[in-house]
Amino acid sequence: MKLPEQLLQDLRSVKGFDELSFQKAHQEPVTTSVRLHPLKKSGADIAGDQIPWNSNGLYLAERPVFTLDPAFHGGAYYVQEASSMFLEHVWKSAVTDTEGLRVLDLCAAPGGKSTLIASLLTPNSLLISNEVIRSRATILEENIVRWGYTNNWVTCNDPRDFTKLGGYFDVIVIDAPCSGSGLFRKDQNALRDWTQANVELCSARQQRILTDIWPSLKENGLIIYATCSFSPQEDEAILDWIAGTYSTESVQVDIKEDWGIVATQSPEHKMHGYRFFPGKAKGEGFFISAIRKKEIPSTLFLHRFKPQNMSKIQQQAGHLLAIDSVQYIQHDKESYNAIAAAHEGDWLLLQKLFYFRRVGLPLGSPSVKDWIPAHDVALSTDASPDLPAIDVTREQALKFLKREDMNLESDSRGWQIIKFNNLGLGWIKSLQNRANNHLPKNWRIRMDIPES
Ligand code: SAM
Repeated sequence: MKLPEQLLQDLRSVKGFDELSFQKAHQEPVTTSVRLHPLKKSGADIAGDQIPWNSNGLYLAERPVFTLDPAFHGGAYYVQEASSMFLEHVWKSAVTDTEGLRVLDLCAAPGGKSTLIASLLTPNSLLISNEVIRSRATILEENIVRWGYTNNWVTCNDPRDFTKLGGYFDVIVIDAPCSGSGLFRKDQNALRDWTQANVELCSARQQRILTDIWPSLKENGLIIYATCSFSPQEDEAILDWIAGTYSTESVQVDIKEDWGIVATQSPEHKMHGYRFFPGKAKGEGFFISAIRKKEIPSTLFLHRFKPQNMSKIQQQAGHLLAIDSVQYIQHDKESYNAIAAAHEGDWLLLQKLFYFRRVGLPLGSPSVKDWIPAHDVALSTDASPDLPAIDVTREQALKFLKREDMNLESDSRGWQIIKFNNLGLGWIKSLQNRANNHLPKNWRIRMDIPES
């Protein structure tokens, strides 16, 4: 692999850059890693070496075909690059309050950072995962449904739409769109498309995104800024730009020497950042920094609402849930969702301002004699453990995930969750002499399943 000379030239002045090991690492294959779901991991049959900066991260010895593992579809783990899992360590070092946080993951697709953050939050905190590009919001939503947290909502908005939410968020994660040099080993297109002009374009866009989002952060709130670019113009220079434009405080994070992470500081304002160079740290290229806001937002979000009475829906759908401090909301004409009671005011405010792809936990819709459960319930960490379920083998699970006939023998009738290793995968409805597969069409596995 031939690395761009202009990039190497820029990096020669960056602290900790070792050109020899960097070049060598770019001739070697990438490592594969996964992050286990803290509440579903017992369903995963997967082993590997612990990633030192993430409590649920594992390096795998080889890359399996994840599509053929039903536990992957049930959300037992997320396939994520190891360096970016360092977000957990930054979070634990920098986020001091844990209750009732409002968190925005602004550039969230396909959902790696969001699923990591969701697992760190308490249920009365709210995580909004936003993706501006509609086509990418679909995969984001799927991954969030699979991860199964009720307090993880999905929006599809431009960063500037958040400007009006003065002082609303406690934490905003910006995993910024960037020139992508950190991914050269994983993605040949990133190398082919790399230009210095694009680095400059990305740097200007990163500043625009930060300008748009800054008003919506609380005083003492935290921006966690990350890129997968090695270019200082998108990393340390952005930190200098933030510190030169706003009133900020840089957050320093303790790291162990043997992790191979390079702690840098921006040249002018000495803001702390953490760099991952392949060849030094075991992972791909990554940069991350935590910045605290030290000013009072000019407008403030006001929080007033009248609780809604949804007792009829509670009677019909309450049995789906293992939790009771929820508020039921009408999502559209026919379907209903559950949100944490603590988030009702947030919903009443935000529904008018944002384009929502997912709010709380979709529960489904009432029919004449029945409740038609939403797919999301089968994968939810808040689903009642008493819902009717059928445990299936790996082969049957894959057939279910292909929407094929599973040859199930069951005496029960009605709605049942298909479970593999106790992980919900979706619903079937058993009738007198057949079972209908209710896996949504767009969730279907498309690859051929080899005979075992
Ligand atoms: N956080 C994601 C994860 O961990 O899976 C990866 C995010 S990726 C580095 C950057 C995201 O920013 C992409 O999904 C991209 O569509 C989105 N994006 C592109 N242009 C944007 C813009 N102008 N404002 C906000 N987000 C943008």
